[in-house]
Amino acid sequence: METENNPETLSNRLNAYLTGNKWTKLRCGRCDVQYYSKTDERFCGDFSCQGGYSFLQHKPKKNRTISEVTNDLEKHFCSNGYSKISPRDLVVHDSTTIFATAGVQCVERMIKGEEPSRIDSLLVFQPSFRTQTLDTLSAETRDSCYAFVNVATIHLHPTFDEHLKHLDDWMSSLSRLGYYVGDFSLVPYSKTPDWGSGPFQKQGILFLFHGLELGVANFCYDITLGGVKGTLSDIGFGLERLTWGLGKRDDIHDHLEVGEYSLIAPMQRYDLTRLMTLMSMSELKPGNRGPEYRFRQAAKIFVDNGFGYSVSEKEVRIATDFWEKITGKNPSLGGIICEINAELGRSFNLLLLRTLKIEPSSEMQKLHPEELFRLLIQRGVSHRKLKEVLGGLHVRV
Ligand SMILES: [Zn+2]
Repeated sequence: METENNPETLSNRLNAYLTGNKWTKLRCGRCDVQYYSKTDERFCGDFSCQGGYSFLQHKPKKNRTISEVTNDLEKHFCSNGYSKISPRDLVVHDSTTIFATAGVQCVERMIKGEEPSRIDSLLVFQPSFRTQTLDTLSAETRDSCYAFVNVATIHLHPTFDEHLKHLDDWMSSLSRLGYYVGDFSLVPYSKTPDWGSGPFQKQGILFLFHGLELGVANFCYDITLGGVKGTLSDIGFGLERLTWGLGKRDDIHDHLEVGEYSLIAPMQRYDLTRLMTLMSMSELKPGNRGPEYRFRQAAKIFVDNGFGYSVSEKEVRIATDFWEKITGKNPSLGGIICEINAELGRSFNLLLLRTLKIEPSSEMQKLHPEELFRLLIQRGVSHRKLKEVLGGLHVRV
């Protein structure tokens, strides 16, 4: 058995499967990568080889909301024998990462042998967040959200044929969503990652859609699962990206579950509200270090961008409705609004006091910004000066 899975035999079997399904092996005229396509396009679907997001030039096939895409995927996989499992908490505190970033983290306890391995086909919607997104996304970023959902199917100890069956299930699921599978280019790759229990082999396929990376299908082997060598099928797609690829608006944020709200409010503001709501629902408290610092950082970006010092009940309700569906958690709306607004207020007060060159006392930081305005006027800051400074901070409330 153990000689069965090696890079060469797996790549031959993948090739046989794909060519049997009318995919042709090609070499990209720009980056030279080998990929599979159903068309005779000369370049792979990579962003730079396509000269950007060329999918946006295609007519939208179906404009689905992110919730509809969620429901469709769930319905399709569950009626095909997959069991939906609960996602991990946003903060995972494991050895390699602080925040959940991939669906496969849901079976981490099984991988480590801390709970018995399930061998049925699993489906998970994993809310995720990468710390780099807070460090790098600007108001102009139109292709990434602060928080996102990784939809993954996971199977522990599958044969390679079973992995190919999962690939089949994804192909039919994507075409039911409204994708034409022939629009994808599939780029095979192999890697030798290590999740902390020793290196293992990974054969992967990248799903590219005219410049947009939609997902990956990984078959892991020689991997230690619960103390024994085994295999793992892990196929994951980005929910927001899947929705964007279908609806093809200029900005991925226009596809968030916020509906018409996107027409009247800056979407980066809602994106941050959505992230802070998820953080609060995950019982993360704002603080100065570790994961807590990321909540504080999100609030600071909100304030620094001139989005004001409070979120509305309506915005938070839209976000909790969505995350409730994804996480199965039943949050207290009032508690979340209070927590976010307290941190926004603190961040706003600091910015205002810094601009006025006033040393912030811890007392001042805790005030509601409007109480701070009153206090500052009492202490002799002129009404006109305060108005000027607030105007300069581009406060839009
Ligand atoms: Zn290329």
